[in-house]
Amino acid sequence: MSDERSPNPSSERADHRSPWVIDTHELGRRPGASRPVQRDIPVTEPLGVPDVVTVPSGAAIAVDLLLESVVEGVLVTGTASASTTGQCSRCLDPITGDVAIDVTELFAYPDSTTDETADEDEVSRVVDDRVDLEPVIRDQLVLALPLVPLCSDDCAGLCAGCGVKWADLESGHGHETIDPRWAALVDRLQDMEDVSDAPSDRADEGADDSDR
Ligand SMILES: [Zn+2]
Ligand SMILES: [Zn+2]
Repeated sequence: MSDERSPNPSSERADHRSPWVIDTHELGRRPGASRPVQRDIPVTEPLGVPDVVTVPSGAAIAVDLLLESVVEGVLVTGTASASTTGQCSRCLDPITGDVAIDVTELFAYPDSTTDETADEDEVSRVVDDRVDLEPVIRDQLVLALPLVPLCSDDCAGLCAGCGVKWADLESGHGHETIDPRWAALVDRLQDMEDVSDAPSDRADEGADDSDR
C-alpha cells in the first residue's frame, strides 16, 4: 500500500515521453507552489475537419501555462495557440489563420475529495504525479476552429453560372441561360407573339368566340 505512487506502466494518461505530459512532482502537493510551462508541441495528426480547416500535421501548438498546486489538485491556466490552414467556404481559395484558447483545468489529486466524488470522465486527474494536457487542449482547440472559414468577411464567393470567383469577374457579369423550367414557357410566349403578328390571328379568335 505504501507504494501507490510508483509509476504505473499501463497508464496511457501518464506517458512521460509525450510532450503533452508534464511532471508536477516538484510542486510537492504544497498549495501555492507553482511552475510555468512553455513549450511548442508538434502536431502529428491534423486537428479539425480536413478540407475545411485544420491545425495541420507538422504545425506546433504553443502552450503558455502556469501549473499551481491547490488543495484539490493541480490547477492549469494559460493559453494554447496554433496556426491553421483551410479553404474559404465561399470561394474555395486556400486560407491560413490562427486559433487560440484559454485553458483553465483542474487536475485532481488521487484521494482528494474531487477525485472521490467526481466521475472518471468528469474531471481530469493527476496520474503518477503527471498531468496529460492532450485531451483537454486538443478538444478545446478543435471546438475553437471556425465552422465556416472565410478568406474575408465580405467574400462574394463564386458565380453559380460559371464557377469563377466574383472577385475575378468584370462588373455586370452574368449568363443568358434560362432555367429549363422556364424555357418551355418562354417558347410558348414566343409562339403566341408570332401568331398574334400573323394576319390569320384575328380570324381564329373570332371563330373561337362564335363557338361559345
Ligand atoms: Zn473567399
Ligand atoms: Zn459566371
